[in-house]
Amino acid sequence: MSADFASSAAGSTSAPRLIIDRDALARNYARLVERAAPAQVAAVVKADAYGLGAAAIAPRLAREGCRAFFVATAEEGANLRAAIGHREAEIFVFNGYMPGDAALYPEHRLTAILNDPDQLELFAAEQTGPCAIHVDSGINRLGFSTAQVEALAARADLLERLDLRLVLSHLACADEPDHPMNREQLSRFTAAAGRLPATRLSLANTGGVLLGADYHLDMARPGIGLYGGSPFAEADHPFEPVVRVEAPVLQVRALEPGDAVGYGATYVADRQRSAATVALGYADGLPRAVGGSGYGRIAGRKAPVLGRISMDLTVLDVTGLEADAAPGSPAVFLGEDLDAIARAAGTIGYELLTRLGARFQRVYEGAA
Ligand SMILES: *Cc1c(COP(=O)(O)O)cnc(C)c1O
Repeated sequence: MSADFASSAAGSTSAPRLIIDRDALARNYARLVERAAPAQVAAVVKADAYGLGAAAIAPRLAREGCRAFFVATAEEGANLRAAIGHREAEIFVFNGYMPGDAALYPEHRLTAILNDPDQLELFAAEQTGPCAIHVDSGINRLGFSTAQVEALAARADLLERLDLRLVLSHLACADEPDHPMNREQLSRFTAAAGRLPATRLSLANTGGVLLGADYHLDMARPGIGLYGGSPFAEADHPFEPVVRVEAPVLQVRALEPGDAVGYGATYVADRQRSAATVALGYADGLPRAVGGSGYGRIAGRKAPVLGRISMDLTVLDVTGLEADAAPGSPAVFLGEDLDAIARAAGTIGYELLTRLGARFQRVYEGAA
């Protein structure tokens, strides 16, 4: 029974566990609510809540007062609606109103995001439900251009048929607080939104919330901060870890000077060392690129990766940590080290989380 696995911290299994702390998630949500007040704080739960499992975490966010969610696709929206129920909670679909998804909107009470004039015309012809308009303010990914907003502003006939709930835009450089593009996008966005019927405005992702009150407008849309990752390339952030991996030690061996470890024999022991082989590899999402600069933790202390990470296994230097590194003991990854491990692999916490593998036993702590 999986509950038995969940209760044995020493790990009687040879599989790694992915542990998601819903109380920490709730505290991160509260931090964002406090920062963004009086703006509403929605939750971005696209890509299965950045790999954490949208069905297992969104109901908790709803209980914490979250009444708006953002997903990438209509299919994600349909699954989310089944998980949260909550008739009054809004579910917005970032990727836009595509013809093949038309039936999903009324059926699952999704809110369409209209990303260009063709989507808007089609939606107005086919649907009567709630919608949002996405305005591009400089990232040039999705959304109406400035000229398209101007043209739409002149179409009172079309606009009055829409049940418009939100106008949004997205920041390109919120991870760099001092980047001049942040201010430029804010002013371009508010100017464009001023041409459209009055409704709620939303610009800020997690980084945008931390940029300050000017960026909060009516609704903030954080993702990564909820999940304990850094929205910034460098600066500190106020969020606590939500996700940790516990991988059991499978074997411990004594290395003599000159002994090599792993594929390619890239690590060679300089002296006697203790090496623990743990059940976690790149198939689980620990990037191979982390290589020699990565580490796990044994009883809270850093244990450097020795040699290359393999598909299912990683070898850690547990010299001096032998008492806590017996077979079955957990080696911990991510947690407080999420961003450091991402940097060591040349990526960001967002990518690390969304690439966590399918093999984990997923364990949810805290109330649903
Ligand atoms: C993913 C996404 C967000 C959330 O961004 P974070 O940096 O994770 O807070 C917000 N808005 C849009 C349009 C997004 O694509």
